[in-house]
Amino acid sequence: MTLPTVAILGRPNVGKSTLFNRLIGRRRAIVDDTPGVTRDRIEGICRLGPTEFRVIDTAGLEAGAAESLAGRLRRQAMEGLAAADVGLFVVDARSGITTADQEIADELRRQEKPILLLTNKCEGQAAAAQALEAWSLGLGDPLPVSGEHGDGIPDLLAALEPHLSPLSAERAEPPDEPEATATDDATAERADRPLRLAIIGRPNAGKSSLVNRLVAEERMLTGPEPGLTRDSIALRLTWNGRPIELVDTAGLRKRARVEAKLEKLSTSATLRSLKFADVVALVVDATMPLERQDLTIARLVAQEGRALVVVLNKWDLIEDPNAAMAAVRDRLTSELADVRGVPCIALSALTGRKVDLLLPAVTAAYARWNSRVPTAALNRWLATALEQHPPPLAQGRRVKIRYATQTTARPPTFVLFANKPAEALPESYLRFLAAGLRDNFDLWGVPIRFHVRHGENPYATG
Ligand code: GDP
Ligand code: GDP
Repeated sequence: MTLPTVAILGRPNVGKSTLFNRLIGRRRAIVDDTPGVTRDRIEGICRLGPTEFRVIDTAGLEAGAAESLAGRLRRQAMEGLAAADVGLFVVDARSGITTADQEIADELRRQEKPILLLTNKCEGQAAAAQALEAWSLGLGDPLPVSGEHGDGIPDLLAALEPHLSPLSAERAEPPDEPEATATDDATAERADRPLRLAIIGRPNAGKSSLVNRLVAEERMLTGPEPGLTRDSIALRLTWNGRPIELVDTAGLRKRARVEAKLEKLSTSATLRSLKFADVVALVVDATMPLERQDLTIARLVAQEGRALVVVLNKWDLIEDPNAAMAAVRDRLTSELADVRGVPCIALSALTGRKVDLLLPAVTAAYARWNSRVPTAALNRWLATALEQHPPPLAQGRRVKIRYATQTTARPPTFVLFANKPAEALPESYLRFLAAGLRDNFDLWGVPIRFHVRHGENPYATG
């Protein structure tokens, strides 16, 4: 099961690594400088409190040398936070608050994610006065702790608790997407950021077999890396130079053979994996393909806005592959209109046959999920689509869509500027537009989002 993630942030020497070790209960969990293994963060699991969570020590983040120290620290903190659900911002109560602390805090205040402010090195009574100074950072009540001696850790766990448990519920209902900014994209598109792949599906579909197969093939290419797969939570592969992280594999690999209740599967466990994934591979047993439960999971993936690839596993047991594939395609087309054209890979995790097709399909789906439609091309297409099939009447008047623009990717999200409020455009019409976008801009198999805005095109220049 994927765990909620907490990132430890702060400038050097405030005691991040010490706190990290305290939380995970041992020395550093992962070999961080095995040659050839690119590590961009140090992760471990904290099992001290009532909840388990994953901890990232951003002291392990290496940033480009070109930036100023302050810029590098800020970026490191933001990257750590981006990978986490909650940030622990650590300051050193003994040395006091520095400009670097303030700069990081300024940036953190602008983020949506919850941040807990920790004044570290507060063992005994020592630095209580300094803790007050941390108030000035504008991040709420500072929590005095000592990573080295363990003071304040129970309070820290108690303070974290409310931020960790309701995660899956929160993510299921994403807030309106904020407008894209250049920096969002820059971070999202950094080539060294791994593509996060979740492998999900019903019990016995063959998920564990597939993960083991992927890992085994990788081993053959790169040789065993002791420590890499044993200790780390995320499993890394590379395909065509692109790092791919398999999320949520710990549970799959050493899974207790307890069958999850089907209804539960579609909610908590699956939602948790989705939350951390960019692309989701839905593993389906080809001998009983696409039952209701599979379709429910697929719809959940679409609702969550992730890119989907369907894996038809156990293809070795299929006698008439052509007929079987045609049946699956029909069913996908009729049942999964929301992600029309979803890629479908038939393979056998058992024999390994065609497993090599999976990662190419996954990276292609990822590229489509990340794609951006240029505004001019989008509006040219829109004009034709509107002409072919005009929007319906609302209270006897024609709804006009004046302009469209893509605001974000991951998944592709479009704003339509209309002369009527959003309700005037029915779902069916938006589905028609989505289908057109898919055909024209190669957005197969990825969810498409629309926001309808009532009013003039704000970008019009005259
Ligand atoms: P990082 O650079 O933020 O990861 O900081 P480290 O964990 O490497 O710690 C920096 C220094 O602060 C080390 O010398 C630690 O021994 C010391 N340190 C860390 N936590 C505490 C603490 O709670 N109390 C005291 N007195 N020193 C600490
Ligand atoms: P999980 O519950 O989804 O992780 O499924 P497992 O990987 O544990 O597989 C369930 C069963 O299906 C095991 O008995 C596997 O050996 C079998 N299995 C998995 N993949 C294949 C396959 O490609 N072909 C065949 N014939 N059996 C498979």
